[in-house]
Amino acid sequence: DFDREIKVVVLGNGGVGKTSMIRRFCKGIFTDEYKKTIGVDFLEKAQFVDALQEEVRFMLWDTAGQEEFDAITRTYYRGAGAAVIAFSTTDLESFKAVQGWKDKIIAECGDIAMCLVQNKVDLIDQAVVTPEEVEAMARQLGLKLYRTCVKENINVTEVFGYLAELHHKK
Ligand code: GDP
Repeated sequence: DFDREIKVVVLGNGGVGKTSMIRRFCKGIFTDEYKKTIGVDFLEKAQFVDALQEEVRFMLWDTAGQEEFDAITRTYYRGAGAAVIAFSTTDLESFKAVQGWKDKIIAECGDIAMCLVQNKVDLIDQAVVTPEEVEAMARQLGLKLYRTCVKENINVTEVFGYLAELHHKK
């Protein structure tokens, strides 16, 4: 039995690596061939969080590409204690969309724990945004920035640990 459990939604445009991130964190695997599930889907993971000095049960919800359907998104957002706003290093539209994702989270959940995630940093030589632009965006949104590579499992655990800590403080 766990004292702490937190529902985390992972948001961002299609293709930024949301499903891969959830699977990476929950199971430690990475696959290019992951097939999207249809409908509501979530994975669970118990993880010791250093900053809290205790184990937290994470319930990770994947929007599974169903972002456009309001009836479904309501279910995704309900009860969420934290959110990851993700974009891809190689997808400018996904970067431009982050403000909209933050607004959506605030509208659905209020001011919950959030952070900004730049994924696919292994593809930095194909970057469509500069580090300065990304840092300016994080400042403007008032969110802590994490740079991740889900493919090589860089910084993924840190993102969820930070969200658990921030959620605890709120
Ligand atoms: P979603 O639509 O946001 O859920 O994105 P997916 O998890 O389906 O990932 C989209 C594509 O990006 C897949 O081919 C993943 O294998 C790939 N991908 C995810 N994370 C990374 C990463 O850190 N680096 C690279 N190079 N590819 C990634």
